[in-house]
Amino acid sequence: MPSKLIDVREYTVKAHKRTIHTRTFNFVCKQCEKMTSRETYGPRPLYCETCRPPQAPKKSAAAPPKKAKPRAKVYQSGVDFQK
Ligand SMILES: [Zn+2]
Repeated sequence: MPSKLIDVREYTVKAHKRTIHTRTFNFVCKQCEKMTSRETYGPRPLYCETCRPPQAPKKSAAAPPKKAKPRAKVYQSGVDFQK
Protein backbone atom coordinates (compact mmCIF):
# COMPACT_ATOMS: atom_id res chain seq x y z
CA MET A 1 0.00 0.00 0.00
CA PRO A 2 1.64 3.28 -1.04
CA SER A 3 1.71 6.07 1.48
CA LYS A 4 2.89 9.64 1.74
CA LEU A 5 2.94 12.47 4.20
CA ILE A 6 0.51 15.32 3.68
CA ASP A 7 0.08 18.59 5.55
CA VAL A 8 -3.19 18.94 7.42
CA ARG A 9 -4.19 22.41 8.46
CA GLU A 10 -5.24 23.03 12.00
CA TYR A 11 -8.89 23.85 12.39
CA THR A 12 -11.33 24.28 15.19
CA VAL A 13 -15.00 23.52 15.46
CA LYS A 14 -17.23 26.15 16.95
CA ALA A 15 -19.14 25.21 20.06
CA HIS A 16 -22.58 24.12 19.09
CA LYS A 17 -25.54 22.14 20.23
CA ARG A 18 -26.37 18.87 18.68
CA THR A 19 -29.18 16.42 19.12
CA ILE A 20 -27.95 12.91 19.65
CA HIS A 21 -30.03 9.81 19.80
CA THR A 22 -29.76 6.63 21.74
CA ARG A 23 -29.37 3.34 20.02
CA THR A 24 -30.40 -0.01 21.32
CA PHE A 25 -27.69 -2.60 20.95
CA ASN A 26 -28.15 -6.31 21.16
CA PHE A 27 -24.92 -7.84 22.29
CA VAL A 28 -23.28 -10.44 24.49
CA CYS A 29 -22.05 -9.14 27.83
CA LYS A 30 -18.31 -9.51 28.23
CA GLN A 31 -18.62 -10.37 31.89
CA CYS A 32 -21.57 -12.73 32.29
CA GLU A 33 -21.62 -13.69 28.60
CA LYS A 34 -25.38 -13.48 28.41
CA MET A 35 -27.26 -12.10 25.46
CA THR A 36 -28.61 -8.73 26.40
CA SER A 37 -29.73 -5.44 24.94
CA ARG A 38 -28.94 -1.97 26.14
CA GLU A 39 -29.86 1.53 25.08
CA THR A 40 -26.96 3.94 24.99
CA TYR A 41 -25.86 7.25 23.52
CA GLY A 42 -22.34 6.09 23.07
CA PRO A 43 -20.72 3.24 21.21
CA ARG A 44 -21.67 -0.38 21.57
CA PRO A 45 -21.58 -1.27 25.26
CA LEU A 46 -19.52 -4.17 26.48
CA TYR A 47 -21.43 -5.11 29.59
CA CYS A 48 -25.07 -5.67 30.49
CA GLU A 49 -26.95 -3.47 32.94
CA THR A 50 -26.47 -6.04 35.68
CA CYS A 51 -22.70 -6.11 35.41
CA ARG A 52 -22.40 -2.37 34.75
CA PRO A 53 -25.39 -0.47 36.13
CA PRO A 54 -26.30 2.69 34.20
CA GLN A 55 -25.62 4.87 37.26
CA ALA A 56 -21.96 4.00 37.16
CA PRO A 57 -19.84 6.80 35.77
CA LYS A 58 -18.90 5.94 32.25
CA LYS A 59 -16.76 7.51 29.63
CA SER A 60 -18.81 8.76 26.75
CA ALA A 61 -18.52 11.29 24.00
CA ALA A 62 -21.42 13.22 25.48
CA ALA A 63 -19.53 14.05 28.66
CA PRO A 64 -15.81 14.03 28.07
CA PRO A 65 -13.75 14.08 31.26
CA LYS A 66 -12.02 17.31 32.07
CA LYS A 67 -8.33 17.06 31.60
CA ALA A 68 -6.29 18.56 34.35
CA LYS A 69 -3.56 20.80 33.11
CA PRO A 70 -0.11 19.88 34.26
CA ARG A 71 1.08 22.23 36.93
CA ALA A 72 4.52 23.14 38.05
CA LYS A 73 5.25 21.60 41.37
CA VAL A 74 7.88 22.38 43.93
CA TYR A 75 9.61 19.30 45.11
CA GLN A 76 11.64 19.33 48.25
CA SER A 77 14.23 16.65 48.12
CA GLY A 78 15.77 17.38 51.47
CA VAL A 79 19.18 17.13 49.81
CA ASP A 80 21.43 20.11 50.38
CA PHE A 81 23.52 20.70 47.24
CA GLN A 82 25.40 23.66 48.70
CA LYS A 83 27.81 21.69 50.77
ZN1 LIG B 1 -23.41 -9.02 32.26
